[in-house]
Amino acid sequence: MSATGPAPSLPETLPAVAIVGGGPAGLMAAQAARALGVEVDLFEAKGSVGRKFLIAGKGGLNLTHGEPRPGFDARYGERAGEIGRWLDRFDADALREWARGFGVETYVGSSGRVFPMDRKAAPLLRGWVRRLREDGVRFHVQHRCTGLDADGGLRFDTPAGAARTRARACVFALGGGSWPQLGSDGAWTGWLGARGLDIAPLQPANCGFDIGWSGHFAQRHAGAPLKPVVAHWREGGEERSLQGECVTTATGIEGSLVYALSAMLRERIAAHGEAVLELDLAPGRDLERLQRDFARPRGGRSVGEHLRRQTGLDAVKAALVFETLGKDGLHDAATVARTIKRLPLRLLRARPIAEAISSAGGVRLQALDAGLRSGALSPPAFFAGEMLDWEAPTGGYLLTACFASGLIAGEAAARAVLGRAAD
Ligand SMILES: Cc1cc2nc3c(=O)[nH]c(=O)nc-3n(C[C@H](O)[C@H](O)[C@H](O)COP(=O)(O)OP(=O)(O)OC[C@H]3O[C@@H](n4cnc5c(N)ncnc54)[C@H](O)[C@@H]3O)c2cc1C
Repeated sequence: MSATGPAPSLPETLPAVAIVGGGPAGLMAAQAARALGVEVDLFEAKGSVGRKFLIAGKGGLNLTHGEPRPGFDARYGERAGEIGRWLDRFDADALREWARGFGVETYVGSSGRVFPMDRKAAPLLRGWVRRLREDGVRFHVQHRCTGLDADGGLRFDTPAGAARTRARACVFALGGGSWPQLGSDGAWTGWLGARGLDIAPLQPANCGFDIGWSGHFAQRHAGAPLKPVVAHWREGGEERSLQGECVTTATGIEGSLVYALSAMLRERIAAHGEAVLELDLAPGRDLERLQRDFARPRGGRSVGEHLRRQTGLDAVKAALVFETLGKDGLHDAATVARTIKRLPLRLLRARPIAEAISSAGGVRLQALDAGLRSGALSPPAFFAGEMLDWEAPTGGYLLTACFASGLIAGEAAARAVLGRAAD
């Protein structure tokens, strides 16, 4: 921590509820606590709130998903039960209604994903922050929380030096560990862990994987889309498959299809040192036809050109077959056809958490009560958003759970201050 001395921006009155972290979960906690009539101060490390939310807007801002429950809840895997209870309080419809309150209409895309009509995050965030200010939430940006005092006071680094404040209840919504340049760097795992909070290590989720391409493949095909493809794998003794799209990178593979399977792939790599995913590169053609077509005489054409022409594969898919079989393996039509239908990708490791869309791990839900409060800290401390130990695929499931948990933690913090149990 830098120089000492009171930072001028800290509230002179004791905040009733301090929200630490100004992402969607923290902002929703602030809204919920303020709606119950308590004083709310929100502290944010960066110079402005909602930076990751704004970046999500670059991809169209997939706010939530149109999938009905309980299918929706199932996207949270092992945490479906706990998160289902959050969704009972604030689900996808409630989220869309909430956005409508800021004049932001939403639509359900063909994939079921829900977006604002203009696919932008900035107007929604601007309207939200304006409303929170009007409602009396006090914002303190450039206040980076660095830990807790022995008496539960919050310590901050600010441009004016070190500062501290003590609230009657705190909501921590510090985010996970992905894209740390946007503010959520996971540093809280150190100082909250030291206070006895039960925290599962942060891990990359919705992430790419390294494969270790040959230099030739990486140089020529990094960034090429692989679409459509069908991924095949075995789980619980059963054959599973999922159609989708992915992208080759300089070191491996990323994209929505891989993200959707990333939890399972990450766990397999942890258990076995690698994970094998089989890709059907030609979902529209059956094995027999591919074999027959490839077996046709190739005349004066190169084997690569013959492969592309006869099987309909584009350049990157054909290069993947090459990469897998080598030139010598391309002489047997049955092998080529089998490889096109089940190309084995050996995934060696997940890409670093800083590159992932989200993170798994965090404050374990078992350590919290139904209001997301930990008994380990005093004054009462509540937790929300991606810093909790759950994960979900992309598709709007991440933001939905962040909003819902923020609402629950904010309400519970306000009730703790007001001395009221849940209504
Ligand atoms: C590129 C990208 C695209 C995405 N697109 C989507 C999408 O379309 N749909 C979707 O559902 N999800 C999407 N996500 C995920 C989604 O944005 C996150 O899950 C969500 O923002 C997490 O909300 P949060 O409030 O828990 O944490 P964050 O949004 O990470 O906010 C945490 C806040 O806490 C602050 N903070 C951290 N440490 C401290 C500290 N010590 N003191 C004070 N403040 C601190 C941070 O600066 C940050 O502002 C995307 C993520 C990325 C990276």
